[in-house]
Amino acid sequence: MSGRPVALVTGGSRGIGRATVLRLAEHGYDVGFCYHSRGDLAAEVEREAKERGARVHAHLADVSDPAAAREFVEAGEAALGPAEALVTSAGITRDRPALLTSDEDWQQVLRTNLDGTFHVCRAAVFGMVKRRRGAVVTLSSVSGVYGNVGQSNYSAAKAGVCGFTKALAKEVAGRGVRANAVAPGFIDTDMTADLPERVRAQVVSRVPQGRLGTADEVADLVLFLLSDRASYITGQVLGVDGGLTL
Ligand code: NAP
Repeated sequence: MSGRPVALVTGGSRGIGRATVLRLAEHGYDVGFCYHSRGDLAAEVEREAKERGARVHAHLADVSDPAAAREFVEAGEAALGPAEALVTSAGITRDRPALLTSDEDWQQVLRTNLDGTFHVCRAAVFGMVKRRRGAVVTLSSVSGVYGNVGQSNYSAAKAGVCGFTKALAKEVAGRGVRANAVAPGFIDTDMTADLPERVRAQVVSRVPQGRLGTADEVADLVLFLLSDRASYITGQVLGVDGGLTL
């Protein structure tokens, strides 16, 4: 044990998860994170987080598999100590119009984004409840709050994340654990990198602040919600979207 608080982050190898791991490391946390396929990028994140003074545990896990999700939590806590913070950032998209969405694309998106969130929260929050201390931040999306054309599977999964987070928040509030969801708009990560230039320009034109957000801007909100400065905030869905949803 290092005396530093321990945070677990899913999907820490890229994008918002990566930015969150590094922000947490800068702000005094030891961090366990999981990744799915990009061991090369995970190794870079591990190195960068260690340079910021953190003890780090990087773990290969598919969060859609309940046993793998539990192993991630157990291995992270065995390496670093009991977690008092959890961030579920692992997510994927498989965009198609609803009527053309295959069973596989529907299930894959639901399993990763929604089931994965549940699997990891179930495994990690149990200990938080026992210790009477913890904070959870799940990654939803504006698509989960308002729906988005071409993203029926993703919108359903992210709406599920909001409902799950609110129910969890009510269940564990009396045990010293908070849970909130963050709903980003369009953030400049690999997830949005494939947008054709024309679509990207359309997206930007809909954002009052006139640009995509950065992963760091989402990570800063996550960091705040995990901290004791957010001690009376639970069960909320907080947007970080440059005014997109105004
Ligand atoms: P990203 O850059 O595509 O990164 C996705 C991360 O999730 C990677 O670390 C990836 O690991 C991991 N991952 C994917 N499938 C996984 C699985 N089955 N098990 C474990 N890890 C898995 O995505 P992002 O843009 O940072 O998005 C992060 C979260 O924010 C997601 O939940 C996303 O839905 C949400 N969000 C993003 C945006 C946006 O505009 N970017 C907007 C709203 C919400 P590997 O690197 O190993 O593949």
